[in-house]
Amino acid sequence: MKRARKYEGHAVGIDLGTTYSCVAVWQEQHCRVEIIHNDQGNRTTPSYVAFTANQRLIGDAAKNQAAANPINTVFDVKRLIGRKYSDPVIKNDLLMWPFKVTAGADDKPMIVRKATRDAGAIAGLNVMRIISEPTAAAIAYGLDKRSDCTGERNIFIFDLGGGTFDVSLLTIKGKVFEVKATAGNTHLGGEDFDNRIVSYFVKEFNRKNTVDISGDARALRRLRSACEKAKRTLSYAVTATIELDVFFKGIDFYSSITRARFEELNMDLFRECLETVDRCITDSNVDKASVHDVVLVGGSSRIPKVQELLQEFFNGKELCKSINPDEAVAYGAAVKAALLTGGSKSSAPNLVLQDVTPLSLGKATMGDVMSVVIPRNTTFPVKKSETFFTVQDNQSHVLEEIYEGERTRASDNNLLGRYTLSGIPPAPKGHPVSICFDLDADGILIVTSEEKTNGNKNQITITNDKGRLSQEEIERLIEEAERYKVEDDKFLEKANSIITLEDYVYDMEKALISSKLCPADKKKLNSAIDKAITLLDDGNKENIENHVFVECLNESKLIFEPIRAKTR
Ligand code: AMP
Repeated sequence: MKRARKYEGHAVGIDLGTTYSCVAVWQEQHCRVEIIHNDQGNRTTPSYVAFTANQRLIGDAAKNQAAANPINTVFDVKRLIGRKYSDPVIKNDLLMWPFKVTAGADDKPMIVRKATRDAGAIAGLNVMRIISEPTAAAIAYGLDKRSDCTGERNIFIFDLGGGTFDVSLLTIKGKVFEVKATAGNTHLGGEDFDNRIVSYFVKEFNRKNTVDISGDARALRRLRSACEKAKRTLSYAVTATIELDVFFKGIDFYSSITRARFEELNMDLFRECLETVDRCITDSNVDKASVHDVVLVGGSSRIPKVQELLQEFFNGKELCKSINPDEAVAYGAAVKAALLTGGSKSSAPNLVLQDVTPLSLGKATMGDVMSVVIPRNTTFPVKKSETFFTVQDNQSHVLEEIYEGERTRASDNNLLGRYTLSGIPPAPKGHPVSICFDLDADGILIVTSEEKTNGNKNQITITNDKGRLSQEEIERLIEEAERYKVEDDKFLEKANSIITLEDYVYDMEKALISSKLCPADKKKLNSAIDKAITLLDDGNKENIENHVFVECLNESKLIFEPIRAKTR
């Protein structure tokens, strides 16, 4: 029996690439994916838009007139999505771009009009899911490989494109694709390598001719395309030349660059790619020796040094280059779209996709500490329960705040929703309340809190498109978590010290009320409690160092422990 379809219309996959874009469609009647040609008959379209006095140009037409109309031709803008104008990485890009980007409200770079999802909606599409590029590529690759796939296969996808870098490790077992881990950098790719060559030649030209070309948008634009071409040449030749007639103030520019110099200029970036690879492998808990296939995707994965370093990392393993690096993402996305519409259930790609959570999911606990319930890179569907405890005597309700993110401080993460569980029966602090996170195959999260003794419940449903983050924002959050790790560790250490001190004050207060203490002990204990409470209630607690709380706890212990020993 055919399953009822959830959506009408064609299932389309779009690879909105930094440099090139590609569109594929699932052909229901032929049970296969087809790449859609653009109006020029090309299978990929440059991600360029240009504005002239009387028209708007897109793709090849925009790219072809870029040198003549540099300030009105917009390209590479995907690198801005999810970033602030004042971001140092963006500042760096701006120096290289001939078109203008200004700071808008809330420090948003003004060239970015709409995020990816909104852009799809404006184009009249029903945007069902934004999936990571390597996952899409892996689906394309997996379909291709499935026929000769016996047992379990671990596939590592290395996708280095024009402006972004993504890697992922997934396992194919029969029809099941399971993404074990993903990692990436939204700001690393071929454009960065181009920038390094541009700077190199700008310096050379300025030095040789005692001029400064850095303000000349047209010259920079021409140099940039020449550098990009030279870079491609260096993937198969050991030297590349650039020839720019009447380049600047009537001066010609002829020069060359060797592959070795290109590699030297970019070595730190290549190494950064390898660090990301390492992080993904560590996150996946799969030993790199157990990786069966290392698949190259994205134009920049053709760079020989990148391939050499990657092969070295995987102990000399042959790299797979069979997949078409320019079309794989759109291809896989179309398959995923077909799966989501339910269409593919009735036809060809008879596979089950298991994706992973791109960010940890959890709740805020006392002291604004993020308590993770479902860690990042967990395969879903998944259901996990945890027990938390009330923090006050006779606490009648808890406010649950649900977040996604990697930061230690809950409020530094993305708030997904909040709700209150009330009707907790009177009980001393430490009364259990359970919380269950249920993430279904479509990424819909249902969080339920329950007080088990009376069965009181409350829950929230968080759908994919309400407050959830785009792929770019996800990667930014992960990057931030790494950048702020030291600060976050300090925050957690202090939060734990505060919680320990609060618990200790609670014990001291209990002893003061319930035990028969001599007047001298009572006095000592009262003053220890007062001192600790004054510190805990300090309005300026944010700026008090961790050691102050630790010292206060130690002083309190010196007073209370001997008294406690007498009452036992
Ligand atoms: P993608 O985003 O996957 O379309 O990749 C585009 C990027 O790949 C651009 O930065 C291109 O300059 C780069 N690229 C394409 N072909 C080559 C090549 N043969 N060698 C080095 N980089 C290349």
